[in-house]
Amino acid sequence: MTQASLLIRNASAILTGLRGEGERHAGPDIRIVDGVITAMGALPPQAGERVIDARDCVVYPAWVNTHHHLFQSLLKGEPQGLNLTLTPWLAATPYRFRASFDEHSFRLAARIGLVELLRSGSGTVADHNYLYYPGMPYDGSAILFEEAEKLGLRFVLCRGGATQTRQLESELPQALRPESLDQFLSDCERLTKRYHQAAPDAMRRVVMAPTTPLYSMSPEELRTCAREARRLGIRLHSHLSETVEYQNAARVKYDRSPVAFCGEYEWLGPDVWFAHLVKLNRDEIGQLGATGTGIAHCPQSNGRLGSGIADIPALEAAGVPVSIGVDGAASNEAADMISETHAAWLMQRARRGELARSRAEGGVREGGADAASIEDVVRWGTAGGAAVLGMNAIGTLEVGKAADIAIYKLDDPRYFGLHDIAIAPVASGGRPSLRALLVAGRVVAEHDAIPDLDLAELGAAARAAVKAL
Ligand SMILES: [Zn+2]
Repeated sequence: MTQASLLIRNASAILTGLRGEGERHAGPDIRIVDGVITAMGALPPQAGERVIDARDCVVYPAWVNTHHHLFQSLLKGEPQGLNLTLTPWLAATPYRFRASFDEHSFRLAARIGLVELLRSGSGTVADHNYLYYPGMPYDGSAILFEEAEKLGLRFVLCRGGATQTRQLESELPQALRPESLDQFLSDCERLTKRYHQAAPDAMRRVVMAPTTPLYSMSPEELRTCAREARRLGIRLHSHLSETVEYQNAARVKYDRSPVAFCGEYEWLGPDVWFAHLVKLNRDEIGQLGATGTGIAHCPQSNGRLGSGIADIPALEAAGVPVSIGVDGAASNEAADMISETHAAWLMQRARRGELARSRAEGGVREGGADAASIEDVVRWGTAGGAAVLGMNAIGTLEVGKAADIAIYKLDDPRYFGLHDIAIAPVASGGRPSLRALLVAGRVVAEHDAIPDLDLAELGAAARAAVKAL
């Protein structure tokens, strides 16, 4: 499926996803052979080589989204949950609609979410799917892999689920009952055997991902999961410390902090990453860093639900691998990576600014504009994502890496007048049109269009499905 030799020519700017000196590359050309970047610099075209003209375009590594719930792509702006915080929102929106999904609506939701991400320049999507129950009439896992494969995206299935229910689920119908631990583990093993590729340039991965450590399983079951995942050679993922309610619950149930609890049950390490991590104390940040446990930072969802803003500079300084996730669209009406990274850039600066105090109050700083640069945010959304997923062949633009490359054409007035167009996609936000998106060297979108995809038709199907739900 890969193009034998392909040349991206005359890029106006290249951000690489690397840190420090290498974070920009002068290019202006990138050669790709058999899906791998083989040269960067001033490269004359070779005979028979396919050329993509990137004049007036900005080139980034394709984004790596590390936390999502694709089924929620038909639950955007749902009125009953729109103005609620996490716990009541869970009952009002995602859990209320769980039983309403059938094979058709689940597939449609997955397609919408993946298309939305692809059009923002994402090449890899990790989906935390927790829509499983005993006797389900369709195979959601297979649908997710199929839909991602059709679009040419790398897909990481974080197999969610629960053996216990929260109070708010306890009165829900049969279709929402939890699985047994055996059902959960045997399905993780089945999926791993069927889909999981261990290679650093995998197109398909499986991750064990009970929905939330504090509520989904007993502590002993969590430990069993951690050991089983490591036996299978797959990673661990979950939600953690999204709001203060995690701190409250961990204290009441286990008399310790959420991170300390996870450490006790073998849920910390370089093969684990958590979504959110908004509410942490200093010890928890230190423990996450010391163990190399990663984060999927989800600023828009955390903003939408009023949860707070994770302290990303402190986490990164402690040694935590930082990545970006859009989270489900039921709590993020802009579940694309451009909106998400734009929000990350602004919110990290706003967060630090919030901590500024006058001199009379002992303050020393005016604001927080040094909290995150555009290059930091690009690195989190690309190389950081590859790191938490353990997919080290992607995430940066360097010779030897897989050619997962987003080429943005800045043809909207939003991008006119910029002194440094390299920063445009993240600094200006919006949706820069895609000159092309490459995944493993294969062109999956070109001139802002996805082959064989009719967006008007997809929109009409979405409207009908929302009505039916
Ligand atoms: Zn989530």
